Amino acid sequence: MNAPITPAHTLALAAIARGWEPKHPLTVSEWADANRILSLIGSAAPGEWKTSRTPYLREIMDQLSEQSSARLIVLMAASQIGKTEAASNWLGYIMAHAKGPVAVVMPTEKSLNDWSSQKFDPMAAETPAVARVLSKRTNSGGENSAARKRFVGGILYFKTAGSTAELKSTSLRYAIADEVDEYDWSTTQGDPLGLLEVRLTTFHDRKLFAASSPTLKDASRIEEMFEAGDQRRYHVPCPHCNELQALAWGNIVIGKKPDNPRRVTDAWYVCRECGSEIYEHQKTDMLKEAGHGGRARWIAANPTAPHPSYHINALYAPLGLGLSWREMAAEWMDAQDDPAKLMRFMNTRLGETWADRSRDLKPNILAARAEPYLLRTVPQGCLVLTAGVDTQDDRLEIHILGHGQGDITWTLDYHVLHGNPADDALWQKLADYLNAITFQNARGRTLKLEATAIDTGGHHTHSVYEFARSGRVRRVLATKGASTPGRSILGKPSHQDVKRNGQTTRRGVALYLVGADTAKHLLYNRLDGDDARPPHERKVRFSQQLEPWFYDQMVSETFNPRKNRWEKKKGKRNEVLDTWILGVAASHHPELYLHKWRKSDWDRRRAMLEPGAAEEGGHDIIVPATAEPAAATETAPPIPATPDAAARAFAAMLAARKNRHGERR
Ligand SMILES: [Zn+2]
Repeated sequence: MNAPITPAHTLALAAIARGWEPKHPLTVSEWADANRILSLIGSAAPGEWKTSRTPYLREIMDQLSEQSSARLIVLMAASQIGKTEAASNWLGYIMAHAKGPVAVVMPTEKSLNDWSSQKFDPMAAETPAVARVLSKRTNSGGENSAARKRFVGGILYFKTAGSTAELKSTSLRYAIADEVDEYDWSTTQGDPLGLLEVRLTTFHDRKLFAASSPTLKDASRIEEMFEAGDQRRYHVPCPHCNELQALAWGNIVIGKKPDNPRRVTDAWYVCRECGSEIYEHQKTDMLKEAGHGGRARWIAANPTAPHPSYHINALYAPLGLGLSWREMAAEWMDAQDDPAKLMRFMNTRLGETWADRSRDLKPNILAARAEPYLLRTVPQGCLVLTAGVDTQDDRLEIHILGHGQGDITWTLDYHVLHGNPADDALWQKLADYLNAITFQNARGRTLKLEATAIDTGGHHTHSVYEFARSGRVRRVLATKGASTPGRSILGKPSHQDVKRNGQTTRRGVALYLVGADTAKHLLYNRLDGDDARPPHERKVRFSQQLEPWFYDQMVSETFNPRKNRWEKKKGKRNEVLDTWILGVAASHHPELYLHKWRKSDWDRRRAMLEPGAAEEGGHDIIVPATAEPAAATETAPPIPATPDAAARAFAAMLAARKNRHGERR
């Protein structure tokens, strides 16, 4: 270099000679472009960081830079869009350049450990500018631990949301609050984010970066913070008409196979303004920002708000990072019949909240959907029977459910047996009732109960245990509602002692936890989805013989998103709802595993019970009685000639399944 030495140079050189680093306004994106190395661990594209690959992150990162006056920066985003990398870049920038005490807060111990081992450690190890400040002083002598790392000019705390109160004597200049929608807000210590904000007050140039994928509508902290902010969305130009627009899922068109509308062949975007088709390979140019070779930019919908807030979905993911539009479309199609998948798609792909509709479900609307089948008979498509039993102090309530392909359930009977559960006579009545169930379908085939789940809650736990182990009725599950949310509908069993008539049988019964709240989400989302489905595609089916009290109990609870739990409506009884859930839990019996049945399993069962019915994915295709039986597919066994043969073939199939899943129990 032949540039003349200026006074500024001299000063800078003198500063370096004295061991100072020259301070100049450096942004996070500049720092990352100059310093950040993406590790092979935890990165889809290892090597030098290039902000130009994810141009939409530049402005967000630069709001985190020292010269930006923003104190709170909010990012509500899809997953795998670069949110965590932006946070890591900022952390590297703080440690190497901006300095000061900083906390990283994650929802749980596990997410914190994952983040630390998969994001922080590789970043610190492979980015020399960060490695330098970490190792210079204190890597020896035990000052660094999993929860706290000193670096030149600052200290880094790793905290879970539940332990932010432990920071109470600490002042922070910076904080990263990641996945805030997963935080437990109801800790005894108080709101974790509020506690964090208090720790930040002493620094006039403090910064808090709150980021998350959203969860439930009205319970989402990140959505609340996004809406309180200026609501920026990344606007990209249409390659045809040049109009700037934010990419929205509703403008995606999905190409499908003509003979199989569920198979996605392609997906493209339709411009909001000119209607032209935009293909994904055009995205790279569209994403380029104004000032960096393109025209894209963040535009605020609410520009007078006090803090910047950003929203971005997975449609923006650069080619090669995250899912392609076609892959997203396939995921979307696959999620259509599954509310849990649909919620996950909304949250993690679109970065949007999921609205729970449990409040909108009204008993009279359900009653209006009832169908003309008779109780104690088996409608077409219904191929497996299970029972759920609720134990009350003076009675047992029994719900008989029929199941068909595609998660369809029918209420086939609801029965109350009065008596004292402490008295064996009531249990004998139950055994007699359940064993007598032989419901017929339209083809004259008889269906019996495959499995029964009984609730052990209340005052008669050991009577239920005793009944479950007695073998008077086959495949009886003793169950208990799980106390924590998000459990699987039927968990793994634990073995319990059975006490009866002064005697104890050690580990005498298998007790299964039922994820009742999971099942309630499932039920309510199916009920809600049934609104838009034609009658023969509805998931939750009722007989016109059921009375108003039945529907009243079916929707007797609403979800409280703030507390993340289901609550009974005032003055309502909920046995119908509880027994429906137990009936579904029974279908998860380890010898039955109905929720894992494949099409071939259903086809086989249908061939036994509804010979002649077309194999049409659970649709009720009525075949005239005189028609030839449908041609058997490769996987379907020969159609048994008699109901007995059908029962034997089904038992053989279950035995095979039992072996296949044997290791799970
Ligand atoms: Zn256009």
